[in-house]
Amino acid sequence: MSHFDIAAGLVGLSDHEREILQRPFREITVQVPVKMDAGGTRVFTGYRIQHNGARGPTKGGIRYHQHADHDEILTLAKLMTWKTALLDIPFGGSKGGITVDPKGLSKGELERMTRTFTSRIALCLGPYRDIPAPDVNTNAQTMAWIFDEYSRGRGYTPAAVTGKPVALGGSLGREEATGRGVALVMREFAPDHGVPLQGARVVVQGFGNVGGNLARILHLEDGARVVAVSDVEGAVHNEAGLDVPALLRHAAERKPVSGFKGGTRIAGDMIFGVPCEYCCPCALDNVLTGQNAGAVDAKVVVEGANNPTTPEADAVFERRGIPVIPDFLANAGGVVVSYFEWTQNLQQHRWELDFVQRELAKKMSAAYHEVRDLARDKGVLLRTAAYAIALSRVVEAERLRGT
Ligand code: NAD
Repeated sequence: MSHFDIAAGLVGLSDHEREILQRPFREITVQVPVKMDAGGTRVFTGYRIQHNGARGPTKGGIRYHQHADHDEILTLAKLMTWKTALLDIPFGGSKGGITVDPKGLSKGELERMTRTFTSRIALCLGPYRDIPAPDVNTNAQTMAWIFDEYSRGRGYTPAAVTGKPVALGGSLGREEATGRGVALVMREFAPDHGVPLQGARVVVQGFGNVGGNLARILHLEDGARVVAVSDVEGAVHNEAGLDVPALLRHAAERKPVSGFKGGTRIAGDMIFGVPCEYCCPCALDNVLTGQNAGAVDAKVVVEGANNPTTPEADAVFERRGIPVIPDFLANAGGVVVSYFEWTQNLQQHRWELDFVQRELAKKMSAAYHEVRDLARDKGVLLRTAAYAIALSRVVEAERLRGT
């Protein structure tokens, strides 16, 4: 049985409630024609899928990736419903994306693509309807274009999208929020399970927004030893610990981490075999599989990415007694600070950074303790407990609304 089914049983969902929660509320597929710099037009496909809005406007990132298709976006939209419910913020779940490898596109092409996509899904967006945010290969600049495009003809509407640049109403602390949230959960988990962060060896797959910020925070604030890091082109390993600030400067120059002089180059797919206390996949989905989970040499797996562990890998980790801190708990810091950004935009007010960080820490800590306590009480995995809490909140809202 899947974690969803076990949790649905724990919570007592009826058949029709299970069906409602397994299917999307609304899906949009659009053509995205883009005039290319070299002449001619390419036509991409874009998606926005709103899974469930019982607890509030739907919320979810926008991903640009060659593998971002309908099924992937739907899976990620569901995950957003569970994430917002687990963190108890007043949103539902959605996700969007375009099937495109953005690496080959110029800035002008990216902007035109983003604007056309936004205008074609705009009828289903809005501060009280559905609010996008950054995800893989999108960033604050992408959100600025979405904000500007959405605001055309609607007036100044910053709360329509989060993860914006601070100069356009973005929240202080949003950029690093997902990585910081992962570190906050690890800080709560570490003493409970006797795996201290001080001196712990950490492996991070993916060195973008989530992985880069997580590595920086663990290195600078927790005294952890980041021993291996990868990006799409390869990996770098240093048993004594990588100089993460220097590696971040290197990556900021758009150089692959495998070219970093402060470590040894290894193949990207070797990273999960590097011995460590904490293995943190922070790149893409389905990277820990039935094939490679047996080789993971870690005490704990921390899902910085969304959906990095297949059910087969989850079963291997369970058999091997390796706890997995599930994605919709571990990486929820981004949507929590997105919620803070939305709140600030609606109030036309700015919070200070230390206030954002304190409120984030409170939210992450509360969610972690709820999950841990339920997992202990019911003798289930952290992921199952997290599902049960999330499902119970969503279904309570559905029942009160009379679904
Ligand atoms: P990003 O685009 O900033 O970074 C992605 C990183 O992964 C890059 O370093 C890229 O080179 C690397 N990568 C891509 N393919 C890889 C591969 N095959 N092997 C190794 N590395 C690879 O993306 P991000 O925003 O950091 O998102 C990463 C993950 O975290 C995704 O699963 C995303 O859904 C999830 N997430 C992001 C946020 C957020 O706020 N950005 C919030 C929650 C969850």
